[in-house]
Amino acid sequence: IMKRKHIVAGNWKMNMDYDAGRDLVKAVADKLQPSDTLVILGTPYIHLRNAASIIKDISNLKIAAQNCHQEESGAFTGEVAAGMLASCGVDYVILGHSERREYFGEDDQLIASKIDAALAAGLSPIYCCGEKLEAREAGTENDVVGAQVEAALFHLSTEQLAQVVIAYEPVWAIGTGKTASPEQAQDMHAHIRALLAGHFGQEAADGVSILYGGSVKPGNAKEIFSKPDVDGGLIGGASLKAADFIAIVDSF
Ligand code: PEP
Repeated sequence: IMKRKHIVAGNWKMNMDYDAGRDLVKAVADKLQPSDTLVILGTPYIHLRNAASIIKDISNLKIAAQNCHQEESGAFTGEVAAGMLASCGVDYVILGHSERREYFGEDDQLIASKIDAALAAGLSPIYCCGEKLEAREAGTENDVVGAQVEAALFHLSTEQLAQVVIAYEPVWAIGTGKTASPEQAQDMHAHIRALLAGHFGQEAADGVSILYGGSVKPGNAKEIFSKPDVDGGLIGGASLKAADFIAIVDSF
């Protein structure tokens, strides 16, 4: 059996001014124990370069951006290319977050092109998918998430897939305090992995880390992470306090 990486990634969203962000990176770096769990900090663009320099000697701590543009360079005022992120010491980029889909009109076709740009620049995408409350209530969550995964990832090669992390984030559980039950998370993660196995083969599917996201806190992380297809978490609100975030990391 192939051992998948355990990953706990923070998504700071649009929080933390420069000094507060620097202090938070330093606090996480100071408290983090060496372990097999890979820890990733997803910060606003302004922090990336300094954060990468603070964590550079800590082998299980990496930095993620929260978005990138799909083109390599050019006249796209206000945008940031994947290669620019890589040049700052960034290794990961969160793509397809439900807030990008909802407030910035990102669809799976655009997200797929951003995934391609990230991979071409040597970044690992953290691809977010997840159904809205209506779909969960209608019982169509497997179809909705399956279509997202297919549209964003099925065009990749097996080698490319090996660079991808998936985050399942039911939209009804993000920032709401309402967590999916460990069983609901496990069921969807197993569904996603089965879809990957059907397309890429079982070995490739078994190598992909699938994270759960949606109101993960120190008090519920252990139970969620105990499920066999849950390989870690994407953490929003609770990633903004070093003690809470580290407590979640230590839940493995
Ligand atoms: C997120 O937005 O990725 C997230 C999981 O947020 P929260 O933990 O605050 O629900």
